[in-house]
Amino acid sequence: MQKRLETVLALLLAVLTVSVTSLLYLFPQMHTYAFYEAPEEGVYSVLDLIRDDKTYLDVASYNIEEDMEHQLRLELPSNVSYDSITIREEPIYHTFTVSIPGVESNYVYNYPVVGSSDNIIDFTFDYADDTGILELTMDRVYVLKTTSEGSYVYLDFLDPSEVYDALVVVDAGHGGKDGGCNSAGVLEKELNLQIVEKIKDIFDKSDYNIGVYYTRLRDFNPEYEDRVTLANDLDADLFLSVHINSTASGRTSGINGSEVMYRSSDPSGASKAFSAHCLDAMLSTLGSSSKGLVAGDEIYIIRTSKVPVALAEIGFITNEKEREKMQSEEYQQKAALALYDAIITTLKENGKL
Ligand SMILES: [Zn+2]
Repeated sequence: MQKRLETVLALLLAVLTVSVTSLLYLFPQMHTYAFYEAPEEGVYSVLDLIRDDKTYLDVASYNIEEDMEHQLRLELPSNVSYDSITIREEPIYHTFTVSIPGVESNYVYNYPVVGSSDNIIDFTFDYADDTGILELTMDRVYVLKTTSEGSYVYLDFLDPSEVYDALVVVDAGHGGKDGGCNSAGVLEKELNLQIVEKIKDIFDKSDYNIGVYYTRLRDFNPEYEDRVTLANDLDADLFLSVHINSTASGRTSGINGSEVMYRSSDPSGASKAFSAHCLDAMLSTLGSSSKGLVAGDEIYIIRTSKVPVALAEIGFITNEKEREKMQSEEYQQKAALALYDAIITTLKENGKL
């Protein structure tokens, strides 16, 4: 009797093994994911997938260590390396764009994003040119820290004030449809951006642990409100806006020199002190003449800035000689260095460095 039971059990076990094996063979994804009929192309809301889709939720919760120490986890297919991922940040919109080349168009279905973060406002997946594009919109600016472990990539969103000794916002004035002032076919927005790019190069090579956020590093026109909100929300230690001056009429003239606008209604005087350092540094480094420190409270980004603000007018686009200088790499580099020095001097004076 005993022997017969054992035989039956062994037989049952054999049948079970064969059927499970053949099922796995027929449906190779089954051992990892529930099969889901995903649309081939299009933009998916990953947040909606996680929130609304039961299937995705079940899939997403499959085999996850409950005490994951990270906020989000991506999984990479075996043909994709961690090094091939690129991350682009647009701090003014609080977005991170994670590009993953070599994945399939239904990547987020087959490799569910798992984890949680209360700070994500929107999270989409798009697919173009054999590249999966995850776009995260956060509730404010974070430092995105990524770590890789095997086929997993972990994303963590850190508070900038906990990562850096000091926070600075640098704004290239105008952009996009707003060219700023112009003369002889030269647009202010372009000179502003060229100088800010050089400021970025200097900060990127600097040994100071400063978080520098740029309102724009390409040709578009962020709203004034968004520019100043970036500085205010970060509670930046300094907010610098880079501009080029012109005569009121826009006509070519002999008027030239550097000028810095500050917020006179700032009771701490920090805006004026920072602006004074910007002006001093420009005068000595550029050898430009002084148009002085000017109260600029009528200007929106100055008036509404809750952090020490300086709006530096490098020189006059309407002065032929100064315009030609400001178009040169060398003069732009000097202007960038002067403004960098002014930032460092002010941060040191305020005990931040
Ligand atoms: Zn301007």
